[in-house]
Amino acid sequence: MELNLKNKVFIVTGGSKGIGEAISRAIAAEGGIPVIASRSIEATKNLIADLQKQGSESYAVLGDLQEEAQCKKVVQKTIKNYNRIDGIVNNAGVNDGAGLEKGPEAFRRSIQLNLFHYYDLVHYALPYLKKSKGAIVNISSKVALTGQGGTSGYAASKGAQLALTREWAAELLPHSIRVNAILPAEVMTPLYRKWLDSFDNPSEKEARIIANIPLEKRMTTSEEIAAMTVFLLSDKSAHTTGQFMVVDGGYVHLDRSLT
Ligand code: NAP
Repeated sequence: MELNLKNKVFIVTGGSKGIGEAISRAIAAEGGIPVIASRSIEATKNLIADLQKQGSESYAVLGDLQEEAQCKKVVQKTIKNYNRIDGIVNNAGVNDGAGLEKGPEAFRRSIQLNLFHYYDLVHYALPYLKKSKGAIVNISSKVALTGQGGTSGYAASKGAQLALTREWAAELLPHSIRVNAILPAEVMTPLYRKWLDSFDNPSEKEARIIANIPLEKRMTTSEEIAAMTVFLLSDKSAHTTGQFMVVDGGYVHLDRSLT
């Protein structure tokens, strides 16, 4: 299937590790140009060099997206370099365990870490998205639907990202800008590894989770999340907006008796 992403420019936040890296690679594989907005300097350098070796163009704007000014800079630099933005993938996030016991400061920090940049980036990119009739993909989480325990800030942010997906899909109808969300559940990434390693017996925990994933008793791969993302960025999904795509091997929705 030809996705028509050639020479189109997509900002991917957290685009050099885990799910974001797979999305950047998938965009590049389709001939698009990923603009990687990340604070992971080494990972970003390595990814850009690797993509270059494969003959793919990419661009990076390094810095912490918690700063509103950084979100503005990402958009400004993208425009200066390419004079277009065809889409945004809001993906950067950290499951930081700011639960009820941690207190108001930790909760606020978590919202800052996980939510505000989703809005800020779209706000600053809006004029260019209107011009390109661009697409927005918000990477949320199953935690928005299921809860997890001990992570109020992350859960609130992920839920808010779903609400913003519907809200922006409605607001941006007149501009033909489509907005969709993807909800991963269990995907092995540096973030997920860190979370697993926080348990006393990580391999037992991992085995227990995998046993509960109905489809093929395995984790979703980052590439499977990326494949859904490039489809949602492309005009092949031209009449899909305001949707929540749960790419999780049936983990959240299928009957528990199946596992
Ligand atoms: P990851 O492996 O940690 O990769 C995320 C990348 O985003 C990292 O490079 C990280 O940098 C960067 N980042 C985070 N906050 C940032 C900020 N404020 N400014 C700039 N860069 C920032 O995470 P992942 O597992 O791929 O997760 C990606 C997204 O998927 C997140 O939104 C997460 O909530 C969601 N998700 C993942 C899973 C899963 O199973 N992995 C499940 C549900 C939802 P640092 O390394 O410096 O933090």
